[in-house]
Amino acid sequence: MGDQLIGIDLGGTSCKFALVTVDGQILHQWAIPTRIEDKGQHIVSDMIQSIKEEFSRKNFDLGKVIGIGMGSPGQIDRKNRTVIGAYNLNWQELQLLGQQFEEAFHLPFFMDNDANVAALGERWLGAGNQSDNMIFVTLGTGVGSGLVTDGHLLHGVRGSAGEAGHITVERDKAFACTCGKKGCLETVASATGIVNLAKRALQETSASFADPHLLACGNDFTAKDIFDAAKSGDRLAEEVIDEFADYLGLALSHLANTLNPEIVVIGGGVSKAGNYLLEKLKPAYEKNLFPQVLESSTLKLAQLGNDAGVIGAAALVLTEFVQKEAE
Ligand SMILES: [Zn+2]
Repeated sequence: MGDQLIGIDLGGTSCKFALVTVDGQILHQWAIPTRIEDKGQHIVSDMIQSIKEEFSRKNFDLGKVIGIGMGSPGQIDRKNRTVIGAYNLNWQELQLLGQQFEEAFHLPFFMDNDANVAALGERWLGAGNQSDNMIFVTLGTGVGSGLVTDGHLLHGVRGSAGEAGHITVERDKAFACTCGKKGCLETVASATGIVNLAKRALQETSASFADPHLLACGNDFTAKDIFDAAKSGDRLAEEVIDEFADYLGLALSHLANTLNPEIVVIGGGVSKAGNYLLEKLKPAYEKNLFPQVLESSTLKLAQLGNDAGVIGAAALVLTEFVQKEAE
């Protein structure tokens, strides 16, 4: 049996690949643009062709590969290895990925949603420290999460376990969420959510931002602008970040009190705010924790950045295939 894994991170603009050994050594990484035209019908054949070309160009041996794992947007049927409704890929109809990859490579093929796969990546080679009990939350345009409990990713009956972005955190003055509900974590803790909070704060108070850059942005600021202003002492910006941290801390405490994770990892674009984010989030999170959960859980920033997806996709082959064969 070989000792190599192929991980694929399929996204709306690019498709990333990694060849990784079972010991976590990254042998090679590459990427191709995602061609979403013509209802996304070129995407799968482009990926298959790219793997074949790259293996031939680099003199790699497909005979050493144990399996292929993939993280994808959209609704995933893990058993049948199909995807539907990945609108950023123009995939409106059912995509038979498992069938196409197995016909092309005669290798086992596994897939899961992108947040779950990124959680496996951070768990394997990043901040998750190979823990059997870790929560990964990604704060980007939206809020996603992957929950590893007793060594297994949680999926639930329809694969919606870990939709942490839709935990309700506001009931009174709640923003409408894209999911149809109101007051979801995503409406206050994603990059757009932080902007929502800032705009509401401006409307509700007579105060305004003092930070010159933020003032120059007018109504067109980003979450990063708010974080930067808060870091440099802008009072209103800091209040907005405190409010964001309070909601995120509350939602994370619900997850932690339920699952008792050893490590909670915060990733995604918003996590680039770094230690300042952790300093704000930690007290808001910890004040809501059950004492034993507090004693046993650590909050950390993600370490793999954009590589979490592709490394986690390779890790998916380990958790779904290699470990199960060994059990
Ligand atoms: Zn929602």
